[in-house]
Amino acid sequence: MKKLALHWKIIIGMVLGIIWALVSSSMGWSEFTIDWIDPFGTIFINLLKLIAVPLVLFSIISGVANIGDPASLGRMGGKTLGIYLVTTILAISLGLLLVNVISPGKLIDEQSRIDNRISYEIWADSEGYEIKDGVNYLKDPEFFERAQEISDLSKSELKEASVADKMETAKMKEDTTPLQPLVDIVPSNFFYSLSNNGLMLQIIFFAIFFGVCLLFIPTDKARPVMNLVDSVNEVFLKMVDVVMQAAPFFVFALLAGVVSKMAGDDIGKVVEIFKGLSWYSLTVLAGLLLMIFVVYPMILKLFVKKVPYKGFFKSMSPAQTLAFSTSSSAATLPVTMECVEQNLGVNKKISSFVLPIGATVNMDGTSLYQAVAVIFLAQMHMIDLTLGQQITVVLTATLASIGSAAVPSAGLVMLIIVLSSVGLNPAWIAIIFPVDRILDMFRTVVNVTGDATVCSIIADGENMLDYKGEKDPTETFDLDS
Ligand code: ASP
Repeated sequence: MKKLALHWKIIIGMVLGIIWALVSSSMGWSEFTIDWIDPFGTIFINLLKLIAVPLVLFSIISGVANIGDPASLGRMGGKTLGIYLVTTILAISLGLLLVNVISPGKLIDEQSRIDNRISYEIWADSEGYEIKDGVNYLKDPEFFERAQEISDLSKSELKEASVADKMETAKMKEDTTPLQPLVDIVPSNFFYSLSNNGLMLQIIFFAIFFGVCLLFIPTDKARPVMNLVDSVNEVFLKMVDVVMQAAPFFVFALLAGVVSKMAGDDIGKVVEIFKGLSWYSLTVLAGLLLMIFVVYPMILKLFVKKVPYKGFFKSMSPAQTLAFSTSSSAATLPVTMECVEQNLGVNKKISSFVLPIGATVNMDGTSLYQAVAVIFLAQMHMIDLTLGQQITVVLTATLASIGSAAVPSAGLVMLIIVLSSVGLNPAWIAIIFPVDRILDMFRTVVNVTGDATVCSIIADGENMLDYKGEKDPTETFDLDS
């Protein structure tokens, strides 16, 4: 009998996980699920992240050293960053277009929007912002009393523990000089960078530096180091194969945990959460789905003729399903690399350089979502952002997506910075917080698909793409090979 493809097994695991969570929540077993099943999901993400950090290190060193000549490395590096930037700006523009056309924030009832506007004015007043557009509701005595109530409400909103926590993190990033992001890339202690999953850019910097220097020392000295790096790399890739064999079970645990935490012992809660934010969620989803099914295939059709639509999806499906269930492009990276190399036929020299960088800096899904979220929040507070402000959103969302760590909810943290850049209240992330984890799953799929698309373009441009037609993705992870 033909073996069931791995991505189907993962999808079955996912569906069973959701069913389990719904049943357990209606039977009042959520605590059991969270205590006894969810930890396996955490173990799975830990295992993948454990592999991701050394894999980034060794694969970039071997990628850089194998390219062989610093000039082509420079050309490829420039091309990689350039194309990543273009796809990010494309994603943000699509997000802005959709949110301006659909206007999900304006579909909320008028009275709530007026109340929201009042609370915004109170906040802006206390922060010293001047409100330029529209009416100033605070000046209207009829609204003044209402304003007092709302003020107390928004204060309690601000206190919500997890949100306050996220704001603290973002604030730390804000209170710095303009060159701080550059300073942050250069580690002063490499072992410290290795011990922190959030410092992936520092690891990439070190790996490129190390790889380039390896190119400049005599071959007899460089060869043993390169052999060692290549072999260690193989060991980590084998670890991915081993972990992936158990992925369907782990994914079951992961999904059961995520949904149980949302629903508690009341499934109705999940439905309620989504009702209020449905138009916003649908706008984000529409943008993300357009990226996956229209924008990337079009880019591929234009620049990489060798890889057909269906073939691309079949090749990438294990990475996409994993991105969906883990919400982390870093955790998915080892699998993305295998799919791109073995199924799409991208030469290792390209993928080992382009993909780890992409997982860290290229987040098209995250940037699209940030653009939609900012405009939606402005709309529901009756604030029309000017064209200039929307351009500011494009710039800050690009930077924020580059700065977001490739882990769950990182995009939400960085949204605080985008909101602040156009004078909006960062505490509003509390409003979209309830649906964020689910949207995170979809945007991570886009992030990973975007990296694979750009990687194929670069490989094709360098004549290093050898696509051999559709392959059974199950073969990608084969313990016997
Ligand atoms: N979870 C996303 C990723 O890892 C980042 C985010 O948007 O929160 O790619």
